Amino acid sequence: MKAVILHGPDNYPNNYEVMDIPKSVCGDEEILLHMRAAALCGTDKRIFTGAKTKGVRKDSVVGHEICGEIAEVGKNVQGFSVGEHVSIANVIPCGHCPACLSGRENACMNRKAIGYEFNGGFEEYVLIPKICIESGNVVKLPEDVSFEAGALIEPLACCIRGLRNTGTGFNDTVLIIGAGPIGLMHLQLSLIAGAKKVIVSELDAEKREIAKKLGATRVVDSAKEDLAAIVAEETNGTGVDRIVMAIGITGLVNSALQLAKKGGTVCLFAGFPKGKTAEIDPSIIHYNELNVTGSTAYKRIDYLQAADMVKAHKIDLDAIVSARFTLDKFKEALDLHMSGKALKVVIVNQ
Ligand SMILES: [Zn+2]
Ligand SMILES: [Zn+2]
Repeated sequence: MKAVILHGPDNYPNNYEVMDIPKSVCGDEEILLHMRAAALCGTDKRIFTGAKTKGVRKDSVVGHEICGEIAEVGKNVQGFSVGEHVSIANVIPCGHCPACLSGRENACMNRKAIGYEFNGGFEEYVLIPKICIESGNVVKLPEDVSFEAGALIEPLACCIRGLRNTGTGFNDTVLIIGAGPIGLMHLQLSLIAGAKKVIVSELDAEKREIAKKLGATRVVDSAKEDLAAIVAEETNGTGVDRIVMAIGITGLVNSALQLAKKGGTVCLFAGFPKGKTAEIDPSIIHYNELNVTGSTAYKRIDYLQAADMVKAHKIDLDAIVSARFTLDKFKEALDLHMSGKALKVVIVNQ
């Protein structure tokens, strides 16, 4: 079978290759998944370039946004059958660390994940280990959900976790900084949660256009327009209730803080480069009584709710897919993804 083997963190772009490897053998306690769609994520950029190494093994297969069709079911596995469409919640919490026990399984200190400790989605057949099946991380999907939308349940689940941390609700005015796939998911979720207005700031004209189509009240090109003035205009000078930073640029944090209203919440959703610090004026947080939060991964409940939304066709994920490639064209896919010009790039497999 074809697989993208990542040899190690160094020497990008010569650190991976598409190879023919023996098809995985399904053990008695495992499921063999015929991968049909696996999406590239911002995290993959960091993994392939060596900026993220935690949990990533040498000569392994990454890819953590996965959907497919069950090809084989181990003889001791109950409740699944060949041919069923499933998506995979790739993060498997341990259930007993202090983070898990305090209700933050998304921040589990011993988490294992498909695409990290276990081989991931950039291969034709993915072995789903026992621990993943037993943890309820294999989610069945009806046939009217596309494999691509199924793969995007994973980032959607992360955004649902972020929405909860941001606290967006009825009548809120929300500012989303960055209209990549994550920003566009946050836009739709904010509207579903009851936001009155969603302002989206994005430098790329095409992405702004998609944000408009997906319901943004106002899109702003902050290179040419004064975002602070627009926020003031849209909020009668009070600032926005909620801010989601969907782009990991440390230099934008301080200016974002200034746009929140008193008592507002700023969610640093995007990952920032490791070790990079941001200069902020703490008085903004102090006098305005701001809540500043982050968001990492998702809880299984977020994943299940994301799957429910997709099954009920309550969210447009197809609008977020800009290109599809097969495994042999993985290099082109990754190059496009790295360029930052595309929204979601999905690896598809027949
Ligand atoms: Zn991801
Ligand atoms: Zn844990």
